[in-house]
Amino acid sequence: MILQIAIDTPLRRVFDYLPPPTRSQEPPRLGVRVLVPFGRQRLIGILVGISSESALPAGKLKSALEFLDEKAVYDPVTFELLRWAAEYYHHPIGEVYAAALPVSLRTGQPAAPTVEDWSLTEAGREQLALPDSRRAPQQRALLAWLAQRSRATAAQVSEAFKPALLKALAARGWIVGHVSESVGDFASLEILPGELALTGAQAQAVDTILATLAAFSVHLLFGVTGSGKTEVYLQVIAAAIAQQGQALVLVPEIALTPQLVERFRRRFSGGVVVVHSGLTDGERRDAWRAAHSGQARIVIGTRSAVFTSMPRLALIVVDEEHDASYKQQEGFRYSARDLGVMRARGAGVPVILGSATPSLESLENAAGGRYAKHLLPQRPGAAQAPRMSLLDLRRHASEQGLSTPAIQAIDQHLKAGGQVIVFLNRRGYAPSLFCNSCGWVAPCAHCDARMTLHRRALKLRCHHCGAQAPVPAICADCGEGLLAVGQGTERVEETLTRLFPDAPLARLDRDTASARGSIQTVLDRVHSGDARILVGTQMLTKGHHFPEVTLVVILDADQGLFASDFRATERLAQTITQVAGRAGRESRPGEVMIQTQFPEHPLLQRLIAEGYESFAASALEERREAGWPPYSRLALLRAEARDRVGLDSFLQAASQVGAALNESTVKILGPATALIARRADHFRAHLLIETAARSSLQRFLGRWLPQVDALAGPAGLRWSIDVDPLEVD
Ligand code: ADP
Ligand code: ZN
Ligand code: ZN
Repeated sequence: MILQIAIDTPLRRVFDYLPPPTRSQEPPRLGVRVLVPFGRQRLIGILVGISSESALPAGKLKSALEFLDEKAVYDPVTFELLRWAAEYYHHPIGEVYAAALPVSLRTGQPAAPTVEDWSLTEAGREQLALPDSRRAPQQRALLAWLAQRSRATAAQVSEAFKPALLKALAARGWIVGHVSESVGDFASLEILPGELALTGAQAQAVDTILATLAAFSVHLLFGVTGSGKTEVYLQVIAAAIAQQGQALVLVPEIALTPQLVERFRRRFSGGVVVVHSGLTDGERRDAWRAAHSGQARIVIGTRSAVFTSMPRLALIVVDEEHDASYKQQEGFRYSARDLGVMRARGAGVPVILGSATPSLESLENAAGGRYAKHLLPQRPGAAQAPRMSLLDLRRHASEQGLSTPAIQAIDQHLKAGGQVIVFLNRRGYAPSLFCNSCGWVAPCAHCDARMTLHRRALKLRCHHCGAQAPVPAICADCGEGLLAVGQGTERVEETLTRLFPDAPLARLDRDTASARGSIQTVLDRVHSGDARILVGTQMLTKGHHFPEVTLVVILDADQGLFASDFRATERLAQTITQVAGRAGRESRPGEVMIQTQFPEHPLLQRLIAEGYESFAASALEERREAGWPPYSRLALLRAEARDRVGLDSFLQAASQVGAALNESTVKILGPATALIARRADHFRAHLLIETAARSSLQRFLGRWLPQVDALAGPAGLRWSIDVDPLEVD
């Protein structure tokens, strides 16, 4: 018997081992952890296959050391999903299997909670009281030993008795092991009824989805911001998990949506675990155990939660399915949304993709009949869609990026008792420090990029590599004074504080959110009404519900209008629509002002006049004409090295071996230089692979990548393959 083991290494293969010498009689199960010798190390791998032969000669095969589990540490669907994902994303299988486990399991901690101490049960006492039969003296000895103690620690017991004996008596119910940690109180799931009467559209969505339970189907829940999508999730989940089922809910970022988690906890008391990157290793392990054992009925988590072992999975929800954070941008570059759909297919259960601004891919899938589309076109109750307008920055005077009409509107809304959101997707004080007399701009020493001025920290910072430098007092070239040019959120905060000294302001961006708990502080200040103005970046777009916000000002819509990336306009439309959705969520009507230099731009015009769906239809038409996804399939080979010439010859060689494969439907484009051509002292370039069909892309990558692996490259070369990249840069 040969064990095929997936080991957490960057090699695209499994490793063959002989079974451990002291193996029990039962054949091992796939998906268990195995300790193996690997070079000079001992590593933990996953048993992913068993075969009768190996390509290695028998003398070269090493024996595995020990199985760490009796049962798989993945549910069967996830086990297969991971194998599929390793192939589809062409990522080393050992890293893929490792990524799905909490760190503590990767490092060998027990999958089940360990017993800390033992005691005798009532049945054990009775057994001991029976007349001595002399047939099982060891068992009697253990019972008698325990009878003299109220509890004995696991260490004391194992000094005196064999583990097999403990197991045998525990199986008969005569002794019981106590687990010290609590994995939460999941014994008593209570599903509380919703307090809201569903709108007609909500009820229709709930009914249609419920009719598909217990079979695979994909539901695109396209509901404008604040239309009650969450209420639909809650009702469908309540029905789906009623028979001991489990539901997986993916969200872009937990820290930004504490309200969502609270709503779930209120509705499903005693059944919810939350998984995100802020957990300690121990918390992660506990959450994993609760899900794996089936005790946790609802798992809410970010991207990597898509791999949580859930043996009784009955439903998957992907909230804000368009969100870019579902795509892992380094290492194992998977899309949690797409894997969520694959997992639902494997498990034979429905998956709901919810968004106010669905991705063009999902809309195309709905148009093609592969996804069922459910519309929630209105906000329930009195809440109305906000009024949107464009402000021509060329026509109006402005003060540090704030046009006169925007300043007047802020003033009016504040006076009327509303709260105001000012959105700018650029943190820091100013994006460049500029010399007016010679044109010098403070550059990053390590990147082809400018440094951003952070005034409060008194630093220049590079947003691409993280480098910092002191702020120079004078121009490095000519010695003249320097000017901070352009706006970042820090400067907008300063300007607004000056213009509206009586309106307390809160700022939400990565600089203010870096300390633990600070996001919550900012959100609390907005909810309590203490803060009247909220300035922030992208972080503001994610699902917040601020009832008192009546005005949203988008300072600069133009960043995405002319960007080269094929997804840039989709992103822009999503951002504008999502930020705008923060306005007027309850009885007060909302207003949205979008500042731009290009008010006549057709994208902006269509978005304002006809809404996101109409924009999406025309954007899809453009994609079709240009042959971009979803009308083609892409993969991007990114590479970087300090040696620019060596980098280029590596990519040229990769392109040539690809062309030699003669796949007629595959186009290899490039090498092309990345937008930031040098980052952290490394030059960056890529090859873009384009095909019409997934299958030909997969076949090509399967043949090509082993050849690229074998190519020599410059010292320190790093490269990666990104299947279905979000950005082709
Ligand atoms: P979304 O998830 O689409 O942003 P939510 O589910 O958060 O929307 O709902 C937005 C607001 O509308 C919430 O305050 C919610 O309580 C309320 N709401 C949702 N459904 C209803 C309903 N059927 N009747 C009244 N209010 C509702
Ligand atoms: Zn100068
Ligand atoms: Zn830099």
